[in-house]
Amino acid sequence: MVNEQMVNKVKCLIIGSGPAGYTAAIYASRANLAPVLIEGPQLGGQLTTTTEVENFPGYPDGIDPFTMMDDMRRQAERFGTTFVSGIVTKVDFSVSPKKVIVEDEIEYEADAVIIATGASAKYLGIESERTYRGRGVSACATCDGFFYRKKTVAVVGGGDTACEEANYLAGLCEKVYMIVRKPYLRASEIMQQRVLNNPKIEVLFEHNTLQLTGENKVQGADLIFRKGEPDEAFKHIDIDGFFLAIGHHPNTDLFKDYIARDAEGYIITKDNTTQCYKCQMSNDKYQKIPGVFAAGDCADPHYRQAIVAAGSGAKAAIEADKYIKSL
Ligand code: NDP
Repeated sequence: MVNEQMVNKVKCLIIGSGPAGYTAAIYASRANLAPVLIEGPQLGGQLTTTTEVENFPGYPDGIDPFTMMDDMRRQAERFGTTFVSGIVTKVDFSVSPKKVIVEDEIEYEADAVIIATGASAKYLGIESERTYRGRGVSACATCDGFFYRKKTVAVVGGGDTACEEANYLAGLCEKVYMIVRKPYLRASEIMQQRVLNNPKIEVLFEHNTLQLTGENKVQGADLIFRKGEPDEAFKHIDIDGFFLAIGHHPNTDLFKDYIARDAEGYIITKDNTTQCYKCQMSNDKYQKIPGVFAAGDCADPHYRQAIVAAGSGAKAAIEADKYIKSL
């Protein structure tokens, strides 16, 4: 139940504290929109689960992601962004101004809302993954790698994230297995080379994980090689840690009753803009949902890069400003 006295009226409300959210906040505050940014549980967003950012322009020597995100946050603060920490539990985009409720308690009424909620790591969906979560299963090497110094770990996945995590863990651990379901890595060439040239990393191509084993914590994994093929074979590896790096799911479920999303849950926006559509189509056509914009990975199934997220955050704020001025 929302306390009536806790209704806050704002021009621009931003949900999410990754590169998209912070950049939107910098632009919106410099446009005098006095934005409120809801920070959520993972301050700095997904980027802070990486080790070093090497591809964000302006940092020729790379930068630690916490510093980069803190810099973005301070830049937004300097121009007047207000930060609120909490989880958005409910929205109502059927009304104007839009309603956003934080922790079931604090209600905001906003002329414009910018959704920048990012994406979260995917899990395989096997039972033992849940059993051992926090006891050897992790989706963040940077957060948890430290606990596996001089131990043996496995990383699942063959994309850039998996390669980056495997390389990072190889710097700490005795040995790193990469469990890759295809006969090749999907990662960019440079990341593949780093993995393949690292003597501590053993890539197990065409393997899938059946289950994790161990008493109270991960001690091993049962794998299957080329399932269903004539040379199908079982393999057991002894490991202390099991790291998932198999992609992400956009954090958009909260908005499903109001805005259009694709089959994977990514928010659909109007061509070359951050403008959201209503989830119900009228006459087979998408209809704009005025005042609601989406930026960053929650609306980007293709690029998923910090620089792209930051760029779309800037676009969202410019579009929100234009919309608010039109009211
Ligand atoms: P990707 O979707 O690129 O890769 C996911 C990997 O996980 C693939 O190898 C996929 O296998 C595998 N996978 C998916 N589901 C399963 C499953 N159920 N069982 C086993 N394996 C599975 O995700 P990433 O997170 O790696 O990257 C996302 C985006 O971010 C990409 O565009 C990437 O380039 C970018 N990125 C860039 C970085 C950088 O530039 N520094 C760092 C990290 C990410 P399969 O190939 O068979 O589909």
